[in-house]
This record gives sequence, C-alpha cells and structure tokens, in this order.
Amino acid sequence: MTSPTIGVFALQGDVREHVQALEALGVRAVTVRREEELDRVDGLVIPGGESTTMIKLADVFGVADAFRRRIADGLPVFGTCAGMIMLADRLVDGAEGQTTFGGLDVTVRRNAFGRQVDSFEADVDFTTFDGPVHAVFIRAPWVEEAGPGVEVLAAVPVGPGAAAGTTDRAADRIVAVRQGSVLATSFHPEVGDDLRLHRLFLDLVTT
Ligand code: GLN
Repeated sequence: MTSPTIGVFALQGDVREHVQALEALGVRAVTVRREEELDRVDGLVIPGGESTTMIKLADVFGVADAFRRRIADGLPVFGTCAGMIMLADRLVDGAEGQTTFGGLDVTVRRNAFGRQVDSFEADVDFTTFDGPVHAVFIRAPWVEEAGPGVEVLAAVPVGPGAAAGTTDRAADRIVAVRQGSVLATSFHPEVGDDLRLHRLFLDLVTT
C-alpha cells in the first residue's frame, strides 16, 4: 500500500488531536461521519470522548451498523479510551442499554478506575516498545477479560498495593491490547507528542 488514508471517527471526541498525530507521521487523515467517508479509508481511529454519546449519535445518523460491518470485515481500527469501549464485544458498567461497534474479543469495564483516581498519569511499560509510554487516563476503562486471540500490550497496577508503590501483579489491569489489526488503549496517546502508538497502528494498516 502506498501512503494510507486514515479516518478519524468524528461524531464526537478529541478528533483534532488524532488528526494532528496522524499528519505528524505523514499520512492523510480525514474525518469520518458518514458511510461514504468510511468506505474511502484504509484504517479508522475512534478517539477519546464519551462512548454513550458516540453510540447515540451513530444510531441517530444511522451509521452504527456500517461501522460494525466494516470493522467485522477487517478494517484496521485503533480505539483510545471511549474508542476502546466502542470496540469492546462485551461491556461492564455501561449506561442502560449501551451498545458498541465491537470487533475486539474483550470485556471492557467502563469508568473502571473509580472515583478517587478519576484521572491520572502514569509511565506505562509496553511489551512492544523500549521505553515506557507516558499515559494520560481520563475516566478510563480497563480490559477486564481478554479472549485467547488478544495480545496484552500493557497493564498498570491498581489498588492498595499500587498506591503503596508495590507491584502486585495479580492486581494489574490491562490498559492496551491488540487483536490482529485492532488496537486499543485505555488512555489517550493522542495527548502529548509520543507517536509510537499511532506508528504501531500504521504498521498494522500497511502490513
Ligand atoms: N468514560 C468515558 C466513556 O464512557 C470515556 C472517557 C474518555 O474517553 N476519556 O466513554
């Protein structure tokens, strides 16, 4: 593939940050709200924002099934925070009746980190990168359970052990996963100038 065109789901969320990150990597980034726009992209990013609003608007505009179909058909997708929720096949603590696009064989817990740590930043080690990723979590979800085809790329310690600075591996929570060409993070790699996750996604699109 010559330089791919990447769409950013743009019904709601921090669309501009993703467009900027993709453009910084030299690819064409376009916003996607309609089915015709979805048909023209080689990969799709679903940003952080509010998943309940995203699915509501996708339903209202009649595009939810088009997104579901394209993702199920193998369109490479990268979901961040609310975007991870949108990709979950199973959801815990969703709003009443909340549905998703699916595509990722995981159970995602929405707003998982709880009140006291609503938002936080952490240096997160990845299996795929040399140095840690400085990650911004905002009312973030985590992956509660991952299917056999899902590769865990990163996890963070939570709970009393974590607060005391110890690492209780049993309490680690999964915050980044990959299944084929579907990538998802609990946090916002589009915030800041570390482009490694976007680059990893582009590798999944082009290989
Ligand atoms: N809690 C939000 C949701 O349910 C996600 C937050 C975010 O994307 N920063 O969609």
